[in-house]
Amino acid sequence: MVTTGGRYFGFVTGGTLPAAVAANWLAGIWDQNAALAVMSPVAAKIEEIVSDWILDLLGLPQTSATGFVTGTPMANFSALAAARTALLARGGWNVEENGLFDAPPIQVVVGQEIHVSLLKALGLLGLGRSRVISVPADSQGRMKVEALPQLDDRSLVCIQAGNVNSGAFDPALEICFRAQKAGAWVHVDGAFGLWAATSPRYCHLVEGVSLADSWAIDCHKWLNVPYDSGIVVVRNPENLRRAMSMSAAYLQVANAREPSHYTPESSRRARGVELWAALRSLGRQGLSELVERNCRLAEKFCARLQQAGFKVLNEVVLNLVLVSFGDAEKTRRIIYELQLEGTCWCGGTEWHGETAMRISVSNWVTSHEDVERSLDAIQRTALSFGTVTA
Ligand SMILES: *Cc1c(COP(=O)(O)O)cnc(C)c1O
Repeated sequence: MVTTGGRYFGFVTGGTLPAAVAANWLAGIWDQNAALAVMSPVAAKIEEIVSDWILDLLGLPQTSATGFVTGTPMANFSALAAARTALLARGGWNVEENGLFDAPPIQVVVGQEIHVSLLKALGLLGLGRSRVISVPADSQGRMKVEALPQLDDRSLVCIQAGNVNSGAFDPALEICFRAQKAGAWVHVDGAFGLWAATSPRYCHLVEGVSLADSWAIDCHKWLNVPYDSGIVVVRNPENLRRAMSMSAAYLQVANAREPSHYTPESSRRARGVELWAALRSLGRQGLSELVERNCRLAEKFCARLQQAGFKVLNEVVLNLVLVSFGDAEKTRRIIYELQLEGTCWCGGTEWHGETAMRISVSNWVTSHEDVERSLDAIQRTALSFGTVTA
C-alpha cells in the first residue's frame, strides 16, 4: 500500500503537496546549508517568512522563537531544553555550563497518555523518562485537571494537543491558567493537533494552548510536506537561544536571526523552502479546508461504521477513529486481512483495554470516494468473519 495514497490511514502520515515536492527537489538541487545566514541568506530569510506565517496561522505569540527541525521528537527535545534552561536559571543554575549534577530539582508533570517521544526527549535531557508525575487521563485520554499536583516556578508541565489514538486535546486553558499562577512552564506537544487552530470549525479544541511557553509541531503530518519536517516554538526566544546557540570566530554570526541558534543541529538542509511552497500553494483558506476535509471524512467513517453495527471507541473530535470488531482476536484478524486485501491500510492499537483498528485521515488527496471504497472493503472483510457487533 502506497503511504502517500488517499486510502492509507496508518499512523498520522500525511501525504505530500505537489508544490512541496517540487520545492523539495529544487532545494535539493540548490543544496543550501541553512545553518547560518552567511552560508545561505535565502534559506535564513525563508525561515523567517515561514516562521511569521506559521505563528500567525496557529495563533501563537508572534514574537516567539522558532527552530526548523526534523519532526516533533526534536521539537519536543528543543523546547524542553529551553524549559530546562529557564527553570534552572531561576534557581541561579546555568545548565549549559554546569550540567545537571548538583542542579536544583525540576518537577516534571506529564499526562498519562503523553506521546512516548516526549518521554524519550525527557530522557535525553537528563530529566528522566520515569522521574515524572503522571496525571491520570479521562475516557478520551485528556489530562484530568483536578489531578494536577501542586505547581511552582520549578515545574514543567507537558500537555498534548491531539492524542495519537483519540485525537483528544488536554484542557490547555485550565492547565495554563493554573501554571501561570504558579509560574510553571507549560509545553504543548501539538504534532498534528495544533493544525486544528487553522480551522474555524475545529479551533475550539486548541483553546488556551497559546498561553503555553513552548510548542512542538509536525509539518510532515498535516501540512503535507515531505519528510522530515517539524518546528519548535518557544515564547521567550532567549531561552531557546541559550540552550541551542554556540559560537566560534570562523562561524561569522550575523546580527539577524541565525537559524542554527534555535536548533540542535548546525548544518542542515533548507527545510523552509518546501514549507514556504506548501503554505503559499494552500493559502490560509486551503490549509483550513484541508484540515476540515480530513476531519469530515473521519466523521463519515465513524457514522458509517456505527451504522454497520461496529463499535467506535472514541469521540471523533478530529481526524482519528478507533473501531472494534468484537474481541481482540477478531479485531486483530480483520486488520490483518484488510491489510492483505489492499484497498486501504489501517493499523491497530490498544485503547483503554480494548484492541482497536485505528483510522487516521491526514492526507490532502483523500476523497469521499476513497472513504467509500475503504468502507466497503472494511465491511466486506469484517462480514467475511461473520462479525456484526451491535
Ligand atoms: C507523531 C507524533 C509524534 C512523533 O512525531 P514524528 O515527527 O512523526 O516522529 C510526537 N507526538 C505526537 C503527539 C505525535 O502525534
